[in-house]
Amino acid sequence: MKEFDCDVAVCGGGIAGLWAMHALRAHGFRPLLLERHTLGGLQTLSAQGILHGGMKYALDGKVDDIALRLREMPQRWLDAMGGQGEIDLSTVQVLSENQYMWSDGSLLGKVTSAVGARMLHGEVDALERSAWPAAFRDLDYRGTVRVLKETVIDVRSAMRALAAPLKGSLFQAEDLRMQTTGDQVTSLEIHGTNHDPISLRPRCVVFTAGIGNEEAATRLPLPQPATQRRPLRQMLLRGPAWKLFGHCIVADPKPRVTITSHTMPDGTPVWYLGGNIAEKACKLSSVDEAIQFTRHELAAIFPKVRWQDFPIAAWDIDRAEPHQSLRFMPSEPTVTTHGNCLLAWPTKLVFAPGLATRIVQEVTERHAPLPLSAPLPLPSPEIGQYPWELADWKS
Ligand SMILES: Cc1cc2nc3c(=O)[nH]c(=O)nc-3n(C[C@H](O)[C@H](O)[C@H](O)COP(=O)(O)OP(=O)(O)OC[C@H]3O[C@@H](n4cnc5c(N)ncnc54)[C@H](O)[C@@H]3O)c2cc1C
Repeated sequence: MKEFDCDVAVCGGGIAGLWAMHALRAHGFRPLLLERHTLGGLQTLSAQGILHGGMKYALDGKVDDIALRLREMPQRWLDAMGGQGEIDLSTVQVLSENQYMWSDGSLLGKVTSAVGARMLHGEVDALERSAWPAAFRDLDYRGTVRVLKETVIDVRSAMRALAAPLKGSLFQAEDLRMQTTGDQVTSLEIHGTNHDPISLRPRCVVFTAGIGNEEAATRLPLPQPATQRRPLRQMLLRGPAWKLFGHCIVADPKPRVTITSHTMPDGTPVWYLGGNIAEKACKLSSVDEAIQFTRHELAAIFPKVRWQDFPIAAWDIDRAEPHQSLRFMPSEPTVTTHGNCLLAWPTKLVFAPGLATRIVQEVTERHAPLPLSAPLPLPSPEIGQYPWELADWKS
């Protein structure tokens, strides 16, 4: 087996792996990224693309840890998207500069009067009906609408912008086998149908593999379980032309639905539905029940529309995280170090820069940069597809 050396091997090419690659390079490392399938193909391209500033987690009027930690993150993205940040993300497409919160009125008052809005720098302004986005008027919405200054991005354009400067350092590794001695990863064997097996001997391995971190965690001497999955069944509607971005607020810490608007490759508009619709739909026993439930929810929010006229689909996806007691969402991006190996989870797309900072801290404390012995004879991975491009649509 041909052998190669490198300073850092990053396993997993979602948002976390790509952002970490840039941060490590900025600190003199020559990292290589190994991706099993496609870049972003799991959680990252399933995300709704919201650069959360924390307000979503303060809807019940309380400002908890995650809300506070999130408030610094959007600015790092926006600086990068303005060409002034740590990475050049000036080609990232903005789908919406604002999100909207809509409700029957009383609840939104509670949110915006909360200390939360000020602590999170979240400007949440009530809108006169004349200033509502056209979608709410066209849908004949009767409640209150507020604007929240949170950007929604086209995630694939971010993946493209992050991947382009890393050309030559991103590799497809269909079958990655980790050789370990105690808590040390001694080598990564890479097998594939189109190349001879190779052995990579990194000084340090960073796992940003999402659900793939589970397997790595079981190979290391760690208290188990070290990881958790929290399932979602996102729902999709093909055809609604109203552009909507935001949360329908109810008396629950979670939005009744979070809607983002996207476009199929042929130009057809798509609504991508998360929030409590996705949390509750995955507890239903069949996709048909989830479809019924979704149509029922939408009819309760926007009764004027015949929702059954739109093709609909379900998209099941797990959130992959470090283990938490009671399976709550972790309140921050997490890096744990074990020998020469790091396990890393951003928890949110918007936390990718914060995670990268922590990865660099851990790596620079323990390892020195090393030149790569030779380019790896492996193909480059493609960027993945969106759920609406892969979904199984039902009429
Ligand atoms: C439905 C949904 C909506 C979301 N919406 C938002 C949002 O609006 N805003 C926000 O901030 N966050 C959002 N999130 C959270 C966000 O998507 C995730 O926190 C983030 O994308 C995780 O990125 P990642 O790089 O860690 O994982 P992933 O994107 O899952 O990437 C892991 C990569 O590792 C690869 N891999 C796995 N195993 C191996 C292996 N053995 N070898 C090599 N490669 C491997 C996978 O193929 C994959 O490409 C959402 C999440 C979900 C599920």
